[in-house]
Amino acid sequence: MSDPTAPGSPAARHGIGRRPFVVAALGAGLTAAAAHVTASAGPAGRRVSSAARHQVGGLEVIALLDASGPFPAAWTEMFPDATDTDWAAARAIDPAAFGDDGRWHLDFHCYAVRRPSGRVMLVDSGVGPAGSPASGWAPVPGRLPRALTEAGIAAGDVDLVVMTHLHEDHVGWAVGPDGTPMFPDARYLVQRDEVDHLAGDPGSVVWGYVVEPLLRTGQLHQVRGAARLPAGRRGERVLAVPTPGHTVGHQSVVVGGPRDEVIITGDVLVHAVQLADPGVAYALENDQATARATRRALLRRAERADAVLATAHLHTPFVRSRQGR
Ligand SMILES: [Zn+2]
Repeated sequence: MSDPTAPGSPAARHGIGRRPFVVAALGAGLTAAAAHVTASAGPAGRRVSSAARHQVGGLEVIALLDASGPFPAAWTEMFPDATDTDWAAARAIDPAAFGDDGRWHLDFHCYAVRRPSGRVMLVDSGVGPAGSPASGWAPVPGRLPRALTEAGIAAGDVDLVVMTHLHEDHVGWAVGPDGTPMFPDARYLVQRDEVDHLAGDPGSVVWGYVVEPLLRTGQLHQVRGAARLPAGRRGERVLAVPTPGHTVGHQSVVVGGPRDEVIITGDVLVHAVQLADPGVAYALENDQATARATRRALLRRAERADAVLATAHLHTPFVRSRQGR
């Protein structure tokens, strides 16, 4: 499958038109409840569209919802050092994360950054289709192909796919089940450390499903450290920056304009409880001390710049850091 959004494809056949995305500014009550987040934009009630957008100069950052569902464990198991105060703050930020079934519920967001030319950078590719590496635990099939169509993005528009890291729920649509890269004209950017680490794991499903096919086609572009990525006009910048801890070679993407900044975080934080208290560790982080330091540094930076955070797993894709902290 080379073009998931081509006319006649399943995505196109089932495509639904663009519908207005209802945003609601959350009230001042959130300010008191949440230590680090004062306001966010999100759907009123249930989502009416998978797309939410944030404009940074001439660059359009588009949230694409691939999937939504429960994690196979309780939130208390995954964040054992969070306090009652942390949980209360987290509930105020992201109430949908707390399922009636006792399990942590989460969204799986990807982000597109569209330049004025119409070319697109995709950051992460979700849980993927049925049978993808994430299908053992994540809610598959994802709906990224349809979300791209809704946003007016064809697979051929994508010239860069940034992989924040090589976990199963972030690379699901990178390569199709037949081993063909889903974005035929794209380079796939990943930190070299992430690839080296995965190469040492003989049981990795992601290696065979994603890394090997991209190595075969020559589309895997490995970098070490920060990398400047295609931006739009003068005064705009897009950077991949290493944010290790969740995984060895984790990276985030900073989209900056003359007045605004969006940080596409990847899994630097995976739950609102880590916004409420960045010191709260996630049980599955590769290196919790490094992850904690990375999270603190990134949130400090966001607060200084009054940047918007674009997260993978919160139910509101864009959250703004508190001004003046
Ligand atoms: Zn994740």
